[in-house]
Amino acid sequence: MVQKITVVGAGIMGSGIAYTSALNGFSVVLQDIAEAGLTKAKKEIEKIASHSEEKGFITTEQKESALKRIKYESELEIAVQEAELVIEAIVENMDVKIELFQKLDRLCHPNTILATNTSSLSPTEIGAQTSRPDKVVAMHFFNPVHKMKLVEIIRGLDTSDDTVAVIKAVTEQLQKESVEVNEFPGFVTSRMNVLIGNEAMNMLMEGVASAEDIDKAIKLGLNHPMGPFEMGDLVGLDTRLRTLEYLYKTLGEKYRPSPLLVKYVKAGRLGKKSGKGVYDYR
Ligand code: NAD
Repeated sequence: MVQKITVVGAGIMGSGIAYTSALNGFSVVLQDIAEAGLTKAKKEIEKIASHSEEKGFITTEQKESALKRIKYESELEIAVQEAELVIEAIVENMDVKIELFQKLDRLCHPNTILATNTSSLSPTEIGAQTSRPDKVVAMHFFNPVHKMKLVEIIRGLDTSDDTVAVIKAVTEQLQKESVEVNEFPGFVTSRMNVLIGNEAMNMLMEGVASAEDIDKAIKLGLNHPMGPFEMGDLVGLDTRLRTLEYLYKTLGEKYRPSPLLVKYVKAGRLGKKSGKGVYDYR
């Protein structure tokens, strides 16, 4: 059973995965190429932990031991030295992910499982670029990781049953439910979610209603817990755009990114993480 997890990429998802793993007893190393990213992640993790303590979801002892179990490291080679499982949460770009997985393959112990938190990309394609495709798998978490109950597990063509069994056991220890999905672009959740978000952008562009009213209509009329713009701003509009571009390429016309979404990303309006997306958070 896995005890030591290294999370690569300390953005929105990497921070959440590192915190949730530490809270549930794993020893964690969080790695990012940007020192500033690590500093921001540490602050974010401490904020989530304190908030959870204030709300009574965790005790002070749980908070303190979780925070102690996370190490922050910018050198990949050092970060993965003892890892039994690496969870990658870097930018949603196949070339960049492949380059990283090739490095991980060289640096990690031969038994180490390499998981990607990709929202849409192929674990088969990533695994094929390593010498251990049987130990490469997609482990798709949801945002915010410490609250969301699901992990989608996507098996690549050569992912072994043993690897899937280990990932299921880790998911259980993280107190999350899992679904096993056959590899197809966007899996189940991203394929559905980006379509709703993109349609909302097109409606906003066409002047069908204001952003606030589109969100309100979807929440109160369709019983979604969040509106599509609230969700897009939380996910990050750049990440959302990259997923759409990939699904447009692989699944076709209905995933063509909305020109308004493209414009927001060009303007640097990426959502909560940049202070402004569809809504203003400053
Ligand atoms: P983000 O932009 O918040 O963070 C990415 C981090 O990775 C940054 O801190 C960056 O410095 C770091 N990074 C980039 N290249 C790196 C490298 N080679 N080595 C180490 N660190 C590197 O992104 P995010 O929203 O956390 O998304 C990460 C992954 O998770 C993407 O594949 C995305 O599709 C997926 N995902 C995102 C969400 C979401 O809601 N945001 C949900 C599920 C899955």
